[in-house]
Amino acid sequence: MSRTAALSICDTLFTDGRFWADLEQLVSMETESQKPDNVDALMPYLTEALPPLLQGLGFTWSLHDNPDPAGCAFLVAERIENHALPTVLSYGHGDVTHGQRQDWQEGLEPFALTPVGDRVYGRGSADNKGQHLINLHALACVIEARGNLGFNVKLLIEMGEEIGSPGLHAFCAANREMLQADVLIASDGPRLQPDVPTVFMGARGGLSFELRVDLRDGAHHSGNWGGLLADPAMILAQALSTITDARGQIRIPDWRPTSLTPAIRETLASLPSFDGSDPAIDPDWGEADLTPAERVFGWNSFAVLAMQSGKPDAPVNAISGHASATCQLRYVVGTGADNILPSLRKHLDAHGFQQVEVVPMDGGAFPATRLDPSHPWAQFAIRSIEATTGAPPHVLPNLGGSLPNECFAEVLGLPTIWMPHSYRGCNQHAPNEHVLASTCQQAGQVMTGVFWDLGDAETPHPPK
Ligand SMILES: [Zn+2]
Repeated sequence: MSRTAALSICDTLFTDGRFWADLEQLVSMETESQKPDNVDALMPYLTEALPPLLQGLGFTWSLHDNPDPAGCAFLVAERIENHALPTVLSYGHGDVTHGQRQDWQEGLEPFALTPVGDRVYGRGSADNKGQHLINLHALACVIEARGNLGFNVKLLIEMGEEIGSPGLHAFCAANREMLQADVLIASDGPRLQPDVPTVFMGARGGLSFELRVDLRDGAHHSGNWGGLLADPAMILAQALSTITDARGQIRIPDWRPTSLTPAIRETLASLPSFDGSDPAIDPDWGEADLTPAERVFGWNSFAVLAMQSGKPDAPVNAISGHASATCQLRYVVGTGADNILPSLRKHLDAHGFQQVEVVPMDGGAFPATRLDPSHPWAQFAIRSIEATTGAPPHVLPNLGGSLPNECFAEVLGLPTIWMPHSYRGCNQHAPNEHVLASTCQQAGQVMTGVFWDLGDAETPHPPK
């Protein structure tokens, strides 16, 4: 059988409803990891929902305790055809964010799959149940068409991505051999446009921290003490104003990336524009010399997530004793995570803001990762998508947001290829989460094509 035959087998899965029946089953499991002590609701995804699908694919599978007591078990499955063949590691997460049942549109339920036109609603349909299910079905299509895959595949499923992937890093570090592979090919996050496949190879990092000005206990009457007592909110505001200029351009030298190379700029230049985005972007915000795509995918951005002084809900006529701001730096590769806060400290001191405390927040930093789009595995994926859809995909060196990609890129040392099957309007993490049926069907084709090409001796792909 041919590549074309494999693609048409995949199409049938969507048109005859088999894909949607499987997705309905997965979405019906209320796997909300953000609810405390919810392991009893999470485990059945690994012990009941996935095993029949994995058995059908000829996978063996096993459950593994999480090294972090805050985390649920991991599922590792594999289908090893021949150790001489390349091995793909894939990944997905079966947990979802809070269902928010009361906030969904009339007629919709988070844990029931509901089609309305091209939209198919359900919590986890996009993030991430639908995405890893598409990949499993694509593997099945290749096995049906070819009789085997022609490569080996390993699959890692976690149930804690929405709470920061507790234990994932340690689990990967302790199981390098079990998870060893030649490449990671996985799906999560949105495409830039629903009808054009996106390939991304890493993620920006993120580091949150607090800036605090604690001057004295309690507040003091502003008539009696104003002009005599220093105001912590004004000190904090002045300190913040030295971190960026008035349009948000970063002024701390060590926070300004050096990794926006001509090759990365060229890749970003071919992405669709932000015209018509919702919300509309502010053209006069951010680094003036950069394009919008360079600002979000190729540069660092500083944000004040929240700030407070006094009692915002019930202000009184008093000089507050404290002010604080929760801040975040999103950063690309080349910005050393360990150096971010020391650079900030040095900068604040140099501007006379010794009173402003820098307090790291729990959870630490998400490291930044990126794979050059010229990497042979990236080129393999791009060529394969073109062969399926007849047009080049959108290629991102890294996402603007964060993913636990560092576990695969750094801990396991793999080239990482992400092929998202959702789109930016999918309402993930919000009421009315949905996928587009047309996008899912095309994504099924794209993944079947990639897996077909990987097992095809005639198609050039990177050496093992
Ligand atoms: Zn999510």
